[in-house]
Amino acid sequence: MQPIQERIVAINAEQSARYVADEAARHRYWAKHPTFFACIKCMDGRVLFPSMTKTPIGIVKPFRAIGGKFEIWWPSFLGRVRHWMERAVSIGSRSFIFVTYHFSVSDTHLGCAGWKYDTASARAHAERLQKEIAYVFGEQVTAVVAGVETDRDVLILHGAQGDISGETLIGKTAEEIRTAIFAVFPTMDPQAITDLVPFLKGNAERVAELTKDQRNLEEKGHNERIVAIGQGFDWLAQENLALIINDADPNLADSVRVAGSLIQKNLAAAAAGDDASLFTCIPYREPGMDYRQAVARAKGLKKFAERVVAEAYPELMASGRVHSMAAVMWEPNKKIEVVEA
Ligand SMILES: [Zn+2]
Repeated sequence: MQPIQERIVAINAEQSARYVADEAARHRYWAKHPTFFACIKCMDGRVLFPSMTKTPIGIVKPFRAIGGKFEIWWPSFLGRVRHWMERAVSIGSRSFIFVTYHFSVSDTHLGCAGWKYDTASARAHAERLQKEIAYVFGEQVTAVVAGVETDRDVLILHGAQGDISGETLIGKTAEEIRTAIFAVFPTMDPQAITDLVPFLKGNAERVAELTKDQRNLEEKGHNERIVAIGQGFDWLAQENLALIINDADPNLADSVRVAGSLIQKNLAAAAAGDDASLFTCIPYREPGMDYRQAVARAKGLKKFAERVVAEAYPELMASGRVHSMAAVMWEPNKKIEVVEA
């Protein structure tokens, strides 16, 4: 197996063990904070909720697409959000969705490649999607537009009465943060406000750290080595390692091409032997048919991705530096099984 692929397997082994070990902690967390959280975000490897908010993996359900450009009418996106929301309804909880876009204050070109660095358009899309989610799902969901400033991982929530961000909350207590959220979102469900506090408190700590020890430019820019296509990649939680694409995207080929262009750029600056991987993974819950459909999807997606990248970047594929691997993941422990490499 190629080193980049061994790295994926090693990260998975470590994260899967951690996920299982954290099972009880997650349940305790949910007992205290019953609101279900999801995040719509860019495939960009720098937009990483667990490290940005210092919350455990598995608390926020991620939906990733290039530039976060989900559309409410995408059948499989809508179906997945609905399924997630119905689970919340079934246990009497509400749902909260961060609808995010990202940018960099130090350098426009460290912004969102998926939007050609046009932050205003990215934010306008998030605002439209937020309204559409509110229209479809009504009072069950609170959807909030949020900006992510990737130099210092600042999470900024845009409210009806102004903004609130981790940066403005540094050093504040949970109660002070609760009051500050209420000031910006006066009509938000009180439970949702309470459950939002840990994210903003964690973000304030994160921003304080990154203000003190600034990252260098190379760390802030794109330096990914993996194009991950499929679902359930929250375990691949390594900053700047993977470009993650949800296969609910009907413009899947476009997203794979954009990811391919970033990989090409990253490899040009990388040492020989520092290679990249197209990695597909599909989760399953049951043996039998559920397992077999995951295997078929993972293998099919791998072939699809190889073809798209080979057509768009023939010299990149011919270089032999882009490997590929298909896997399935058992949902309860997030452990992957490589089915083709
Ligand atoms: Zn982006």
